[in-house]
Amino acid sequence: MSLLQYGFKSQRISDSSSQKNEQNSKNPQENLKNSNVDKTFKIKWLSKLSWLHYDNKKMFCTICVKHKMKNKFATEGVTNISKKSAVKEHVKCKDHIEAKKLETAHLPLRLLPSIIEMMKESGTPHISDGLITYTNEISGHEFLMAIAKTIEDKIWSELSDAVAFGIMIDESTDIITTKHLDIYALYVAKNEIFKTHFLCLLPLTDCDAESITQVLINLFKKKGILSKLVAFVSDGASVILGKDEGVAAKLSRVCTYPLIVNHCVVHRLALACKDVGKEIEIYKEAELLVKKIYGYFKNLCSHIQQLKEIQNLLDCPILKIKRLYEICWLA
Ligand SMILES: [Zn+2]
Repeated sequence: MSLLQYGFKSQRISDSSSQKNEQNSKNPQENLKNSNVDKTFKIKWLSKLSWLHYDNKKMFCTICVKHKMKNKFATEGVTNISKKSAVKEHVKCKDHIEAKKLETAHLPLRLLPSIIEMMKESGTPHISDGLITYTNEISGHEFLMAIAKTIEDKIWSELSDAVAFGIMIDESTDIITTKHLDIYALYVAKNEIFKTHFLCLLPLTDCDAESITQVLINLFKKKGILSKLVAFVSDGASVILGKDEGVAAKLSRVCTYPLIVNHCVVHRLALACKDVGKEIEIYKEAELLVKKIYGYFKNLCSHIQQLKEIQNLLDCPILKIKRLYEICWLA
């Protein structure tokens, strides 16, 4: 595939010498090979090492940057760009291995037994000696629940210590179409840091205002903190923000302090954009264009590879096309 068809040229080439650039402008690929950049940094490394990023004559590791590691590849960038040994050393360093583990942290638990086997074979300390026996997915699930419980307890404890707190709620449906209430808490912790945390996901039997209000009251009454609830945010659904009989109105009647109620700015923005789309033609065109771009790259390996090559050529971060979601509101 030739990238010429896209009309791209590397900006780095024009940086190096405008005169030379003019001479070679007929062939950007050739130009790239002959530029000062290639004399020191090998562009081909980028296609072999998906984590490697080259910018401003420095090498970076996108995985280490993402997981906020402290090595040079993650912070100021590595300047000895001609040495592959620097790259090889980085692959073996503790930080990079740790960052890679974090990168794969979202694997399903059913893969746990085979991952443990792989770790045993690679001689991972404490695992290869055979002393650890809790290696199946059931144990993995128990570990996960124990970790989640510890985090949840800490949030509830901070909420108990807070002077006041607010909540953000939204309704959602899981893959088996069970309705849930998502609850986020906002508060100032003891160390005076403002925090926003996911609190819980509660199943809903009914989606009317009375049922939702009752779920919230029961939750905070049980924890003894209902009297500290001072703020409430949600989407603009009438069942939630209805002036007299919405959830917010019902909740404000049982709160100790006047409840500050807000229609979520993000939802308001979404509604505003939807209305704009009805009146302004270019909005529809832009939306269609985004959908077309997504459709072009979706699941087609050759198109995804083209995108990667273009990003490499332009020294841009290697980004992937994220899935497009059209949110359906339950309420
Ligand atoms: Zn790294």
